[in-house]
Amino acid sequence: MPTTPPRYDVLVVGAGITGIYQLYRAREAGFGAYLVESGEGVGGTWFWNRYPGARFDSESYTYGYLFSKELFDEWEWREHFAEQPDIERYLNHVVDRFKLRDDIRCGAEVTAASYDDAVGSWQVTVNDSETIHARFLVSATGVLSVPFVPDVPGRDEFAGQQVHTARWPATPVDFAGKRVAIIGTGSSGVQLVPIVAEQAAALTVYQRTANWCTPLNNAPITADEQQRLRCDFDTIVETLNTSPSGFLHPLHDRAAFDDSAEDRQRFYERMWQVPGFGKLISHYTDLTFNVEANAEWCEFVARKIRSIVRDPDTAARLIPRDHRFGEKRPPFVTGYFEAFNRPNVRLVDLLESPIVRLTSTGIETADGVAELDLVIWATGFDFGTGALSRMDIRGRDGLALNDHWSDGPRTYLGVQTAGFPNFFFPGGPHAAAGNNPRYNGDQVDFVTDLLVYARDQGYGVVEIDPGAEATWTNMIDRAARKAPSFGECSYYFGTNIPGKPRKYLLNSAGRPKLLSMIAEIKANDFAPFQFARVADHGFAAR
Ligand code: NAP
Repeated sequence: MPTTPPRYDVLVVGAGITGIYQLYRAREAGFGAYLVESGEGVGGTWFWNRYPGARFDSESYTYGYLFSKELFDEWEWREHFAEQPDIERYLNHVVDRFKLRDDIRCGAEVTAASYDDAVGSWQVTVNDSETIHARFLVSATGVLSVPFVPDVPGRDEFAGQQVHTARWPATPVDFAGKRVAIIGTGSSGVQLVPIVAEQAAALTVYQRTANWCTPLNNAPITADEQQRLRCDFDTIVETLNTSPSGFLHPLHDRAAFDDSAEDRQRFYERMWQVPGFGKLISHYTDLTFNVEANAEWCEFVARKIRSIVRDPDTAARLIPRDHRFGEKRPPFVTGYFEAFNRPNVRLVDLLESPIVRLTSTGIETADGVAELDLVIWATGFDFGTGALSRMDIRGRDGLALNDHWSDGPRTYLGVQTAGFPNFFFPGGPHAAAGNNPRYNGDQVDFVTDLLVYARDQGYGVVEIDPGAEATWTNMIDRAARKAPSFGECSYYFGTNIPGKPRKYLLNSAGRPKLLSMIAEIKANDFAPFQFARVADHGFAAR
C-alpha cells in the first residue's frame, strides 16, 4: 500500500551545531519541525572529523550554545579548547536535554529537493528513494562538510588503507608499527601529525604549502575558571555579541610601529603565548594591513620555527614563503613543529618533489616511491557551497541552484537566494567570518523570526527580492576586497577546488553589521522579503 509522505512545517537538513539549534528554535516557535542527517550520529562537522587530535581552536565556551544559561551552567568543558570526543558528547547532551532526538533521523541523506510553486512547498528526496514534504526547507549543511580529495593518479591502486580526516572511521585507526603518510598541512593535518608521529613506525608528511602555524596554548579549565565562567555569563554573551568576529579576545589599541623595536619583540613573545585566535585578534591593529608589520611578525614566527626544529632544511621548508600571516586561515598547533625532531618523521616538500601517483605499495614522487601502509588525506573541503551544490536543489520553475550560482553564491544575509522561495541556508556561504556558531546562531534566530512573522501574517511563501540579493552580494564582494585577512590564495575563495568559481564565500563585514541589518529588517516588517499566501496550509504544528 502506498504511504503518504510525511509533511512538516520546517524540515532541517544537517545535525551540526547550526541544524540542532534550528530544530530547537523551530520547535520552540511551534512549528512541526523535523531534521534529517546523513551521518549515523549528530554533530555534523564534529561528528565526521573524529581524527585523533581534532579539537576546537576557538574557546570551547564561546563556541558552544549560549541560548540557555542553564545549559551553559551545567556543562563543564574540561579544556579551553575541547577535543572532538568532548564536543560530540556535548552536542548529544544538548539533543537529549532539549528532547530533540525523536525529531532527528540519522542515516538520511537529502539527494534532491524541488520547490512546488502550486502548493508553495518543497518536495525533498531522502536516500534517493523516500519523499518528505516541507513548507520550509532549512539546509544547515555547513561550510566544511564535503571533503576534497585531489585527483592523484593511482588512488584506486594503493593496496593499503586510505582515509580522509573529514570521513574518519568510528573504529579507531591503528597507527602502531605502520608506515603512514599524511598529505596536507592545513588545520586538520597539523593537528594530526604529532599524534601519528608518536605511534607510527614511520610518518611522512607531504606538504605542498607551509602554513603560519602558531601554538594553540590549550590548558585545562580550572575549578576557579569554571566558577568565573558561570558568573561572567552575561558579560561573555555581551562581549561576543559586540565583537567584530564573535570572540572574547580583546582588540589591541596600538599599531606595530607605535612601539619601539624592543617593545615589539616583547609583544610578539606575549602573542606567541596567547591562546588561539588571540594571535590574530589581539595583535597590532595594522598586522594584516601593514606589510612591514606583518613581515616582522612573520620573521619572529620563522625564528621560533628554526629554534624548535633541529634540522635547518626541514625548518626552512616549514616556514611559509608564499603568503603573509592571516592571508590564509592560520592553524593553531600543539607539538607540531616538535614532531619533526623525531627520527621516525620526515617532511616531503611537494613543491620540490611533487606526487607523481599512488602505486599499489605507496606514494611515488619525483624522488622515488615511499612504501606505505596507510595514506591519510588531510586535503580539505569544498568549502561553503560544497554540500548545497550536491543536493540537486531546484527552485521556482525548476531553476537549479547550481545554475543560479554558476558564478559563485548569491545570497541575502547568507540565508536565502532569489528564485528559491521557502528555502534557507543558515551557516552556509556568506555566513560567518569568525566564530562560526555565533554568526550561524544569529542567522537561525533570524530565519525563525521570519517564519514566525510569515505564519502570524497568514503567509505561506517567503522569498527574497532579487535586487536585495544583488545589493548584499555586492557588499560581500566589496568587503572581501577591503578585508584585512584572507587573500585569494585562501580556500575561502574556492581556490582549492579545480573549476570552482573564485568568489568570496564568507561575510567579512562583521557580526555587528549583520546584527544591525537584522534589527533594521525586523523593524521594517521583514522588507525586502516578499510574502505570498497559499490556498491550503496543510502543515500543522506537531
Ligand atoms: P585545508 O586548510 O584546506 O588544508 C588542506 C591541505 O591539503 C593544504 O595543506 C593543501 O595544500 C593540501 N592539499 C590540497 N590539495 C593538495 C594536493 N593536490 N596535493 C598536496 N596537498 C594538497 O583543510 P583542513 O586542514 O581540513 O582545514 C580546513 C578548515 O577546517 C580549517 O581552515 C578550519 O577552518 C577548519 N578546521 C578547524 C580545526 C580546528 O582546530 N577547530 C581543525 C581542522 C580544521 P595547499 O595549501 O598547497 O593548497
